[in-house]
Amino acid sequence: MDRERFGVIPGVTDKEYYTNSFHVPVGYDISVFDKISKEGPYHKYTNAGHISYIEFPSPPVHNVEALQAVLEHMRACDMGYVGINFPIDFCESCHHRGVIDAERCPQCGGSEIKRVRRITGYLSTIDRFNEAKVAELHDRLSHRL
Ligand SMILES: [Zn+2]
Repeated sequence: MDRERFGVIPGVTDKEYYTNSFHVPVGYDISVFDKISKEGPYHKYTNAGHISYIEFPSPPVHNVEALQAVLEHMRACDMGYVGINFPIDFCESCHHRGVIDAERCPQCGGSEIKRVRRITGYLSTIDRFNEAKVAELHDRLSHRL
């Protein structure tokens, strides 16, 4: 709607979605700690609501020390509300769960794979995303430690 009204403005209306408030753009290559350092100071100025997130390529279950360091950095940077995103895929046939990069389940070969992601603060399966959320998901980069 804004593109129809204002035209294509590079960096503003040139995508199917807007970058949320003070967030670093979803496709910007940045480390976890740098993203937290840049976004944290804005939390106190957005007292009607705020969230910052970081994106991992897989569930961070095998590196608890790194996760603890991330959470401590979030607190030190004055973040009030945070999300730690990572993919969760599951097979509807055999209930295998994990990051399934293929079209078919590695356990049973089933093709009914549900993919849970968080976009705009809400967890959902990708098949329920609108066009804008699919476009944002496509552009998203994981953040490196
Ligand atoms: Zn399966």
